[in-house]
Amino acid sequence: MHKKPVALVTGANQGIGLQIAKDLVAHDFTVLVGSRILRRGEAAAKEVGSDTRALQLDVTDQASITAAAERIRKEFGRLDVLINNAAISNTGKQPDMSVQDYAKLTRPSNVSLNEVRAIWDTNVFGVLAVTQAMLPLLREAPAARIVNVSSGVGSLTRNSDPAFPYRSIFGPVYPASKTALNAITLAMMIELESTGIKVNLVTPGFTKTNLNGYAGTQSVEEGSREVVRVALLGPDGPTGTFTRWENATIPW
Ligand code: NAP
Repeated sequence: MHKKPVALVTGANQGIGLQIAKDLVAHDFTVLVGSRILRRGEAAAKEVGSDTRALQLDVTDQASITAAAERIRKEFGRLDVLINNAAISNTGKQPDMSVQDYAKLTRPSNVSLNEVRAIWDTNVFGVLAVTQAMLPLLREAPAARIVNVSSGVGSLTRNSDPAFPYRSIFGPVYPASKTALNAITLAMMIELESTGIKVNLVTPGFTKTNLNGYAGTQSVEEGSREVVRVALLGPDGPTGTFTRWENATIPW
């Protein structure tokens, strides 16, 4: 029986996910570095250091998800923490196009449905598929925890307020994918309320990563810290929260 707690971080080969992996190893976890391209995961696992393993995991590929769950069962027999971190913000935005200009091209009236489907496939259906595959392993852990990485831009409460400054970029692609993720997360929380499995949502805040062309204002260390704080909450910690650092509530 593996003694250390085991965590899986999806999309951990770069950005906030990579930093979450580093922080969890520092907290004495065995960390599975999920990566859709295995060699990127292997390079990241090397960077994270001891007690880390690269795990090929494309959250849009059911065969990859099933194989990942089988490997975890064989090697550890359980999963203590699942961090659903992998996401994409677009499939074709040119690097020099501003978020505002991209928002204009992706309004409900003119957005390509293929673009919506591609982003939702990763950010929404990917999270549901990975969670379904990992739940039997999470049920084997004494006090399992799921942390879904969302964003304040998906908050319906905020975006329905005309005074919210980012309202003009609320659209069907990335922002609404995070709204849908929030809804699915709430459904998970409700289903798992009577079990010991806690489910929480976190937003990292605007962080300098590939997702936003490195335009973010926070470091990855800052972006990962609320996710890690929530992942480390013990069995008496809350379920059903949506927070940013440090434990500040985000409206759903
Ligand atoms: P990032 O640097 O672009 O990292 C995203 C990760 O997700 C990469 O490892 C990427 O893999 C992976 N990924 C994408 N599609 C995947 C798939 N189909 N299967 C498996 N992995 C996949 O972005 P980030 O900023 O660290 O984002 C991490 C999380 O924070 C996301 O959920 C994002 O929505 C959220 N967030 C970020 C910000 C911000 O300002 N950065 C703000 C709010 C919320 P590849 O390297 O192979 O592409």
